[in-house]
Amino acid sequence: MRTPKRLYPQERIIYHPELLTCPHCGDLLVMWNYLSWNKTVQTLDRALSIATRPGRCPQATCPGACMRLVSAQAQQIAPPGSTYGYDVLVRIGWLRQYQRATYGEIHTALASQLAISPSHVRYLYQHVYLPLLACHERQQREHLAPVAQAQGGVIIALDGLAPHGGEPQIWFIRELTSGLTLRSGWLSQQDQPTFEAFLEPLTHLEWPILAVLSDKQTGLVPAVAEVLPDSHHQFCQAHYLRNLAEPLAEAEAVLKAELRHTVRQQVGDLIRQEPHTASGQGGVLTVTGLVPSPPAKPTGSASHHPTPRDTRTAAASQADEVITHLFRHTRYLLTLKGRPPVRLAGMETYERLQNVAQCSLDLLAERYDPRLAQLYQGLQAALSPFAQT
Ligand SMILES: [Zn+2]
Repeated sequence: MRTPKRLYPQERIIYHPELLTCPHCGDLLVMWNYLSWNKTVQTLDRALSIATRPGRCPQATCPGACMRLVSAQAQQIAPPGSTYGYDVLVRIGWLRQYQRATYGEIHTALASQLAISPSHVRYLYQHVYLPLLACHERQQREHLAPVAQAQGGVIIALDGLAPHGGEPQIWFIRELTSGLTLRSGWLSQQDQPTFEAFLEPLTHLEWPILAVLSDKQTGLVPAVAEVLPDSHHQFCQAHYLRNLAEPLAEAEAVLKAELRHTVRQQVGDLIRQEPHTASGQGGVLTVTGLVPSPPAKPTGSASHHPTPRDTRTAAASQADEVITHLFRHTRYLLTLKGRPPVRLAGMETYERLQNVAQCSLDLLAERYDPRLAQLYQGLQAALSPFAQT
């Protein structure tokens, strides 16, 4: 049994149809003597009790005599069958889609303003908000018309998200020039009949499909040829480029592995050392949680003038800090990841390690440090065999 809502509406509003005359014969409307749309509606700021008195034509012979014309304004407050205002729906949609809020979070955000259950938040989003959004998308058709007219048809891109073993997969058909989504849907299978069913409604558009852009997904190529036989089918350039670059990417991956191995052999032990004085407390860097690190002891007290000894340690700790950063950077460079065909990690690692070596040399010219010299020599020795490659 449903628990009745205990709501105390702050206001009672009876609406009348905005239309004053019969749309059939033009006679003045009269009101039925009952109320429809009689409900309590919760909006974000108040609870309203609304109703509308339907109107009809007074002429018994007019088709308008059996009409029940209701107020448009009343219908703009809440969707049919719902006691939550459109403003509540908009808030739910906004929180969900722009703030990425969970249903629980949306419920918490709304519960201070109105009476709603967590499951009803979910219901309103899935069964009212999303269908309304879909209706809104359909109205974007007028934006498609000028684009299609200008180019004499539409060019579409077809793509889906990578599947998770056996799960339905989401697919999109977008118009390329305008970026409008023509169709999006979950496909239970990625085979020719499913793709054909997904593409078929495109043939009812009033414009021809000039070209289709997609990858070479199994089933998709014959489906496009079957449903859109007059369209050009272009495979994705990025996929082409990736396939073209494959031999290069493979050679590159070998280079990367060998380069890393050699560099680690030469300077691996060296760059794993963190000078303990450089920063933090004995190699411990950032600490959060209940038990913080004790505050660092001030290095120089303001009460006495800096002695030559103080300045020497200050300079040494500055040098330590520079070297720590160089070592960390070198370690980071040994972990670079590529993304063929655009980003090739081996070549990038080589170039950037070369920069580190150059930087070490420049620093050595300023101030000699045995660790820096070791890093420079090690990097030179490791990199030089790869210069030719
Ligand atoms: Zn009439």
